[in-house]
Amino acid sequence: NGNGNSSSNSMRAQPPQQAPAGRSLQLRPAKSPDNSFTFGNVCAVSAQDIPPSRDGGDVHLLINGAFVLSARPLPSFPRGHISLNDAQRTWMQVALTDVVDAQAYDPFSHGPQSYLGSMDVEVGFAGKKSTEIPYDQDELAQAFVNTYRNQIFAPGQQLLMDYRSVPLRFTVRTVELVDISSLKAPAGDAKQRRDPQARGIVTPESTINFSKDAKSPINLKGSTRRPAANSVIRPDFKFEDLGIGGLDKEFSDIFRRAFASRIFPPGLAEKIGIQHVRGILLYGPPGTGKTLIARQIGKMLNAREPKVINGPEVLNKYVGQSEENIRKLFADAEKEQKEKGDESGLHIIIFDELDAVCKQRGSGAGGGTGVGDSVVNQLLSKLDGVDQLNNILLIGMTNRKDMIDEALLRSGRLEVHMEISLPDEAGRQQILKIHTTKMRENGKMASDVDLAELARSTRNFSGAEISGLVRSATSFALQRHIKGGTVAALKDDVSDMQIHMEDFLGALDE
Ligand code: ADP
Repeated sequence: NGNGNSSSNSMRAQPPQQAPAGRSLQLRPAKSPDNSFTFGNVCAVSAQDIPPSRDGGDVHLLINGAFVLSARPLPSFPRGHISLNDAQRTWMQVALTDVVDAQAYDPFSHGPQSYLGSMDVEVGFAGKKSTEIPYDQDELAQAFVNTYRNQIFAPGQQLLMDYRSVPLRFTVRTVELVDISSLKAPAGDAKQRRDPQARGIVTPESTINFSKDAKSPINLKGSTRRPAANSVIRPDFKFEDLGIGGLDKEFSDIFRRAFASRIFPPGLAEKIGIQHVRGILLYGPPGTGKTLIARQIGKMLNAREPKVINGPEVLNKYVGQSEENIRKLFADAEKEQKEKGDESGLHIIIFDELDAVCKQRGSGAGGGTGVGDSVVNQLLSKLDGVDQLNNILLIGMTNRKDMIDEALLRSGRLEVHMEISLPDEAGRQQILKIHTTKMRENGKMASDVDLAELARSTRNFSGAEISGLVRSATSFALQRHIKGGTVAALKDDVSDMQIHMEDFLGALDE
């Protein structure tokens, strides 16, 4: 494709294994070995100087301690040299006569903030023609992401791209990184943008916003937003929208431990030898938001509507019926995996009251019939056994972690365990806020309601109990309103009904 990165290997974001950290090489700029390095952001080096990655692919180099490039180690390239094209030299301010310092660079060295959320790029025409060339922004963004996927970009970086036989020059203006541990944009965007260390890996989810270089005869058309590719994580995801109170830390921990691998560029997880997590266990007292979290995980991963099943429901006294229930649960995922293989979407199965199918100490579950055993065995075989499925995420839930079969909790199975406990005061206030959103928006909550005070006086309340409290306060207000009037009168009257602090206090006393 003439962009300098048409190697058969499309993966480039693996941490390089060569050149032990700290060791650097002095290299002299040289002409590109062929046209394929004139464009794009890959440079050529000698394979004797810099060995290729484990699978023979490109590596990342840190040049002069400040600039990161993808490098292709070639056996035929002269030792002690590095090919730098015009745009690369301009960016790094290196003359053909300068010697540069090159070091292996680990793209994940900045911790979880390694990926590009979005990037602003100026586009100009790099050739001699002067007629105006129209471009569709979305198409250009798509081409950009496809071509430079897994490469690293930083503010100030320049590169040339041969797009539909027209030479374009891109100048990166700002980058915005995403923190894969919480998926939140970093605090203080502006500062981040000025950070010379800010650089990130292009993924299929990265948004590229183009703007026209002032002098350029290029005419950019269309929206500046690239439509989301078939992303694994919804690009518009925001924790605040989830309606879960007080569990930010738990949620971002689950995310980091269970799903970070799912937003890697396709194939990367396999390349660096990690497997996606197939099962997680949420445990803790009832009503604390486990089901809520499980459902939101599904939404966030863009999976279809999760299937929900409940332990006691699965157990059936008719022999074979329980197995049948489980089979049905996995049937869709199985069918899609057969038809589409790795392209299959993610199927989420929420298993509530998982303890009910687990062997109770001493006696078999399901009334000592051993039915529980076969349910557990069937789950195990879907997770890591003979019928293993790659497109499922099983979320088990229980109030009693100690009752869960050890076999289910091993690595590769329900391997991420997260305790969801009763909310603390700050959490309770968040939950109160969430459950009073509607009434506040509609002016139904009186100004004397003090949510901070209520958070203080609801010690040991679960999220479900707090939501119950709000409901009950509403009925107190309604009752107060009806007093003296008739239900018929209420109909006209309800418009000025408000929920007051006394209603909440009344509900608390109940
Ligand atoms: P669990 O599965 O832990 O028993 P649920 O998720 O079913 O609890 O919670 C029941 C209801 O209580 C939820 O639908 C929600 O309305 C409310 N709730 C519980 N925990 C929270 C929370 N942390 N934030 C907001 N609402 C909550």
